[in-house]
Amino acid sequence: MKKWKAVAALLCLGLFLTACSSENASDGEQEQVVQDIEIEVPADEDDTPDEDVQQEADVDGQEESTAESDLDEGKEEIVVLDPGHSSVVAEGMEPLGPGSSEQKSADTSGTSGTSTGLPEYELTLRVSQKLKSELENRGYTVILTRDTNDVPVSCVQRAETANNAGADAFVRIHANGSEDSSVQGAMTICITPDNPFYPEMYTQSRALSDAIINELSAATGCENDGVWETDSMSGNNWSEVPATIVEMGYMTNPAEDELMATDEYQNKLAQGIANGIDAYFGY
Ligand SMILES: [Zn+2]
Repeated sequence: MKKWKAVAALLCLGLFLTACSSENASDGEQEQVVQDIEIEVPADEDDTPDEDVQQEADVDGQEESTAESDLDEGKEEIVVLDPGHSSVVAEGMEPLGPGSSEQKSADTSGTSGTSTGLPEYELTLRVSQKLKSELENRGYTVILTRDTNDVPVSCVQRAETANNAGADAFVRIHANGSEDSSVQGAMTICITPDNPFYPEMYTQSRALSDAIINELSAATGCENDGVWETDSMSGNNWSEVPATIVEMGYMTNPAEDELMATDEYQNKLAQGIANGIDAYFGY
């Protein structure tokens, strides 16, 4: 009987083990299901930045793989943005360019919206901050010459921020004014080929100016007033890197003033200027 009991016990054990193993298999499947669910959750999370990359790729018009590597590694170029003017105007005079005997005001108060009353320094700061975010999303390193309205910054100080950063582009954001309220449109401003200070900066500054004004007008639909070459801008004259002033539109034109004060149009301006910077660098 003991033998039979032992055999019966072994049989029971065998059945038990079989049952266990089939349960285990079942558990295993459940675990597998659980694991699949667990895997899917982080996989979805992983997908989120990919979707962002895809959106970036759509915006940039680039392939996903290119946009991904741009975002992962960043771009090499440094862009210094200079929001024109300030609520506290830098006092005193400065040389028109390095070594120049001609003096100019360190800064001016700028213009303001005839319809909105918006000061130029506030508009230039808002657009510069939007543009900074846009350029950072595209992988650039971006430095602002000021990120608040209550600091005085002279034109030479603005240029020196770009020089000290070793900027690849110095983009100065302004809005225009005219005694004629019907005058409208955007333009960019750079040095002439005969600039007495850094004439070697002309070719690149002109290319930067062309790229930005063309992309800005394409993005916003505004009048394209082209590039004005002049050696009368001390901030441009002191720049040892490619520089341009972007006059986004006329705050003395009621319609353009109203338009530039809107968040939507400011986003278009930022997009257009960023497109121009991309085009200048060959992206
Ligand atoms: Zn200005």
